[in-house]
Amino acid sequence: MNAASSRAAAPSAAPSEPALAWAQRLVRIDTRSQRSNLPLIETIADHLRALGVPLRLTYDETRQKANLFATLGAGKPAGVVLSGHTDTVPWDGQEWTLEPLAAEVRRTPEPRLYGRGSADMKGFIGCVVAQTERLLAADLPFAVHYAFSYDEEVGGFGARGLIADLRDAGLTPRICLVGEPTGMIPALGHKGVYRWRCHVRGHAAHSSRTPFAVNAVEHAARVIARIADLADELRERGPRRAGYDVPWSTAAVCVVEGGVADNIVPEACRVHYEFRNLPGIDADALQSQVSDYAATLEPAMKAIDATSGIRFERTAAMPEFEAKPDEPALRLAERLAATSETTLVGFGTEAGLFQRAGLSTIVCGPGSIAQAHQADEFVALEQLARCENFVRGLLAPEAAALALL
Ligand SMILES: [Zn+2]
Repeated sequence: MNAASSRAAAPSAAPSEPALAWAQRLVRIDTRSQRSNLPLIETIADHLRALGVPLRLTYDETRQKANLFATLGAGKPAGVVLSGHTDTVPWDGQEWTLEPLAAEVRRTPEPRLYGRGSADMKGFIGCVVAQTERLLAADLPFAVHYAFSYDEEVGGFGARGLIADLRDAGLTPRICLVGEPTGMIPALGHKGVYRWRCHVRGHAAHSSRTPFAVNAVEHAARVIARIADLADELRERGPRRAGYDVPWSTAAVCVVEGGVADNIVPEACRVHYEFRNLPGIDADALQSQVSDYAATLEPAMKAIDATSGIRFERTAAMPEFEAKPDEPALRLAERLAATSETTLVGFGTEAGLFQRAGLSTIVCGPGSIAQAHQADEFVALEQLARCENFVRGLLAPEAAALALL
């Protein structure tokens, strides 16, 4: 048991049968980010349609992926968004002892649901969907919205469409609860995650004729050194924020690809890197330092071959997130989770996107990030029970008072 689950006894240590069944049903649908999420989206949509819940699906340009946005209590004021992503990371190269998609429940060392996405974050979505009838029957004075996105794990692309959609529909929910795994402790902040690819185009030549070549790998190495220097500056002199595992902003070069043979000056090189910026640190300004430096390398490259140069492509942008100490989402989440404890998390979520769209936002969901993305990922059933109580807490009059503030 982790610290969160051994504390105050939850009203029930096991989720309801429908909540567990929904979590299992969702885990069994393969929604690795590179695949279509439509089988999962349609499964939920069919259930909601049968209950008469209005919903909209917004597709990506391939029409193989979709966001689902559903409203319980359409036309009612304010509103609470329950947000989750439907995609999962893959399991290639991981040593699983269980089937990633079997959604097996094991009783020892504690009751757990195993499977890819069980903690991140189909357990949460399952608990939410399973409460639909109950939420509808309660006829709450405020709207409850489900916002289930695609492509979170590969850059938060789906949520952008979802938020645009919300705006187009004229909906103005006040609060957003993002159910990423925090052990059901409300999380007040996380760093941003900005990923970039640097494409260096050089000019190939026999390696004996270097003055007539533009060496893409060597130019990439200079860019890499600039990123590493920037990481050092952030560690040595950058702002600090207590509470994070690494209390400063970081930069890391993670993939380099370039070169074809020992005797050919390479024509192309690609570098993948990322920034994880603290709230208050502008990730674009960090990137400008890299691209401005790269621009100083280009005149010498172009003097040999005008088509050579250095280009940058942003592949992920999950904005940093920081809640204020007394905002409505925090007060509601504390109430629903029955705790006054808060935490900070070390991973990116869609919270920053919702916050930038004007919603008071908090991250709080079942399971631990220690299990997310790992082999034999699991969520403790006790955590699902807490999550179920969290969602059912919306039925309490105190929740309405906070949601309608
Ligand atoms: Zn996640």
